Amino acid sequence: MKYISTRGDAQRRSFSEILLEGLAPDGGLYLPEQYPKVDDATMNRWRTLSYADLAFEILSLYIDDIPADDLRALVRKTYTHEVFGTEAIVPLKPLEPGLALEALSNGPTLAFKDMAMQLLGNLFEYELARRGETLNILGATSGDTGSAAEYAMRGKQGVRVFMLSPHGRMSPFQQAQMFSLQDENIHNIAIEGVFDDCQDIVKAVSNDLPYKRAHRIGTVNSINWARLLAQVVYYFAGYFQATQGNAERVSFAVPSGNFGNICAGHVARMMGLPIERLILATNENDVLDEFFRTGTYRVRKGHETHETSSPSMDISKASNFERFVFDLMGRDGQRVRHLFGEQVEQAGVFSLTPEEFGRIAGFGFVSGKSTHADRLRTIRDTWERYGVMIDTHTADGLKVARECALAGTTTLVLETALPVKFADTIREALGREPERPAALQGIEDLPKRFSVMPADPQGVKAYISAHVSA
Ligand SMILES: *Cc1c(COP(=O)(O)O)cnc(C)c1O
Repeated sequence: MKYISTRGDAQRRSFSEILLEGLAPDGGLYLPEQYPKVDDATMNRWRTLSYADLAFEILSLYIDDIPADDLRALVRKTYTHEVFGTEAIVPLKPLEPGLALEALSNGPTLAFKDMAMQLLGNLFEYELARRGETLNILGATSGDTGSAAEYAMRGKQGVRVFMLSPHGRMSPFQQAQMFSLQDENIHNIAIEGVFDDCQDIVKAVSNDLPYKRAHRIGTVNSINWARLLAQVVYYFAGYFQATQGNAERVSFAVPSGNFGNICAGHVARMMGLPIERLILATNENDVLDEFFRTGTYRVRKGHETHETSSPSMDISKASNFERFVFDLMGRDGQRVRHLFGEQVEQAGVFSLTPEEFGRIAGFGFVSGKSTHADRLRTIRDTWERYGVMIDTHTADGLKVARECALAGTTTLVLETALPVKFADTIREALGREPERPAALQGIEDLPKRFSVMPADPQGVKAYISAHVSA
C-alpha cells in the first residue's frame, strides 16, 4: 500500500515513510491510494478474533513495510486487558434495544485518544530503533491530547516528550494525571500564560527549521495517518459485537472536533463495513454541523470559538476534514488544493457546488449539535433512565444520536471519555461526584514533576537543548 496527498502531489510514499511525518510536502494530508475492500468471507473470519488480532488484520491491509510477525507483536503488546481494563477492549454498554454506548475510554487517560496513541507509542519506538534515530516530541495541550501522548510515550526508547500546558489552568485531575509521571523521558513544562501561548511557542520552535532539524523535533498531532488507522479497528469491533451476521447495518454517533474519530468511521465504511449512518455531533462549536447542513465550511476566528463543557470538541477548524473532502471530490487533488490551499487559507471559507453537496448523502453522513443545556439534560436523563453516568462529550453524541438515528437500525454512540474527567459538569447535572476508577483514587496527592517557565520560545528552546544533549 502506498500513500498519496490530498492536494495532488504525484509522489507516493510507504507507511513507514509517513509514520513520523505531519503534513505532506504540498500541505495536504496523507491517505492510502485506495481503500481495501473487505468481503463477506473475511468479515466472517474477523468476527471471532480478539481485538488485537482484528487490529493486526486491518493494519496489515495498510502496512506492508513492517514484517507481519513484528506488527502482530506490536498490536498484541498494545491492546491488552491490563491496559484497557477488559478482554473486549471496547465493550458495548447497552442502554435500550437498538441503542448502546461503545466504551472507548478505558485506557490509561480515560479518553478515546488512548486507543490510537498507545499504538503510536509502540510504532514510534519500533521505527526509531529500526532507523537508529531518536525523536523529541514537542506539543501543547489543554488536557486530553497531552496526557494521552505522555502515557503512550512514557518509558519508550528513543522518544522524549516536551509537553507545554497553561500553568494553573488545567483541572486538578488533569494536572495530576500528567505531572505525576516520573519517567525520565517525559517533560512537563507549565507555561505562564494561556493555551494559545503554549501553541504559539510550539509554532515558533517548529518554524525555526535549523533548530528543529538539529534537535529532531516532531509532533503527534491528530492528522497522523497511523492514529486514524488505529481508530478504524473499533468500528469493526463495535459492529461485530452489535450484530449476529454481516447483512445487518449499524449507525455510529460520534462526538466530533477535529474530525479524526469520525473520519476513521468513514474509512471503515469505504472498506465495506455495513454502516448505515455516520452521525456527527458537535457542541456549540458547530463548524462541521454547519458544513453538513449547508455545504459551506467556514473556519471560526479566535473570538468566535466558544469555551464549552465538552472542551475537547472546542475547535475553530477541523484538521482532518480535508481527508473526507478529498473522497467527496472523487479524489480530485486539484479541487482540494483550490478549496483548502487557496480558499480556506485566504478567506477562511469555501462552499460546495449544489452537485458536490448532493453527493454527501451517498457517504452516510448526517449531523447535529448539542449545547450545555442539552448536555446537562442528557447526562441527567441517562442517569435516571439507565443508571449509567456519561461524560459531557458522550452526552453530545447521545443527544444528536436520538435526533438522527434511523428506526430499526442499531445505533452505537462512541463513548469518548469517562465522567471523572469533567467533574464540575457532572456535579451540575447530577448533584453528585463522578465515579472514579479504583486505580486513580488519590492521584491528586502523588508527587508532581514539572517546570514552570515564562511564555517565551527562547527559554523552552534552551530547556530542550539541555535535556536533549544529555
Ligand atoms: C479529542 C476528543 C474528541 C474529538 O475527537 P476528534 O477526533 O477530534 O473529532 C471528542 N471527545 C473527547 C473526549 C476527545 O478527547
